[in-house]
Amino acid sequence: MLRVGINGFGTIGKRVADAVRAQPDMTVAGVAKRTPDYEAEIAHDRGYPLFAAEDERPFAAAGLDVCGRVRQLVAASDVVVDATPAGVGAQNRELYQDLDTPAVYQGGEDADVAPVSFNARANYDAAVGADAVRVVSCNTTGLSRVLAPLDERYGIEKVRATLVRRGGDPSQTGRGPINDTLPDPVSIPSHHAPDVQTVFPDLAIDTMGMKVPSTLMHTHAVNVTLESVPSTDSVRDLLADEDRLLLVPERLGIDGAGKLKEYTRDAGRPRGDVWENCIWAESLTVEPLADGRADCYLFQAIHQEADVVPESVDAVRAITGVADRDVSVRRTNEALGIGRGLAGLDPGHSVRPRDAASDD
Ligand code: NAD
Repeated sequence: MLRVGINGFGTIGKRVADAVRAQPDMTVAGVAKRTPDYEAEIAHDRGYPLFAAEDERPFAAAGLDVCGRVRQLVAASDVVVDATPAGVGAQNRELYQDLDTPAVYQGGEDADVAPVSFNARANYDAAVGADAVRVVSCNTTGLSRVLAPLDERYGIEKVRATLVRRGGDPSQTGRGPINDTLPDPVSIPSHHAPDVQTVFPDLAIDTMGMKVPSTLMHTHAVNVTLESVPSTDSVRDLLADEDRLLLVPERLGIDGAGKLKEYTRDAGRPRGDVWENCIWAESLTVEPLADGRADCYLFQAIHQEADVVPESVDAVRAITGVADRDVSVRRTNEALGIGRGLAGLDPGHSVRPRDAASDD
């Protein structure tokens, strides 16, 4: 059993802790919190050993037992997943190195926090044996998962993606209310393109970012110029075979992130989490270009609070070298119920919209 410590028990950390607990080969060594807030109460109620990031006294005053400070948690862990706020992870690096504990950082950290930027689908093997990895951000994870199979099967000449980003998470009341549509960042390419290149160093990609007053999910409008001319059906079949991509059938009547989240809550997903990319099946379109190339288009929704969670679990296995990619991804998926559709339905094959291109 791998003992996994989780430093930071907020939006991402609490989900990673629950996902680690669900794995047959991992146990939660404990979680570290800075403040004794409602999430500390949840950690306590779920029986996770609780450690103080700094001072234990506020926890004692709140009636919460702590097992010690974060240093003790790291020392008791085979691996630590750092899910502290962006930038704090880099400050913790010395602690992890000092105790010789491999670390999994999150995408809010700069790429140089770790030697490898990680996505299980795209570059699992690069992380095997590393002493630290950074699981790329929610948006970069969402792009990496869809680009990896397209690149492997058809070759990619160029990616152009517009990322319509949620303005904040549901708990980030400090970010709202806002009522505007912001080019964010206004400069082009947005920081997402270079982030994707930390996973695919040779990929030609431009991204544009926006922020909108929503807390639900990000929405990506993706255009991939392929180096060959597959049919729309072929691309649909390729993507439908990927467990962490869901093709949302037209018949469900899901017109946006609101219904997607409602559906996953109805289906009993924990916290209504959507660990997979949700690609609108009708949006998937391939338009042939001259000289053996084609433009592939799609819309996808990315649940920012959830998609990096299975990746973080796989990153733990990758850096400890306990499993290869196929074994790890299968184990993670089975433990979480990924691959059975949003409600245990077969998600991909039920809709066949118009085919715009010739066959491969
Ligand atoms: P969060 O603010 O929800 O949670 C951070 C947690 O860390 C809180 O429990 C906080 O009390 C605790 N904390 C604060 N300072 C600490 C310290 N010094 N030591 C230990 N714990 C401390 O943040 P989050 O949204 O979970 O983000 C965590 C990381 O995941 C960031 O790198 C972020 O960029 C990345 N990420 C976030 C999202 C998202 O949508 N929320 C998506 C993907 C990646």
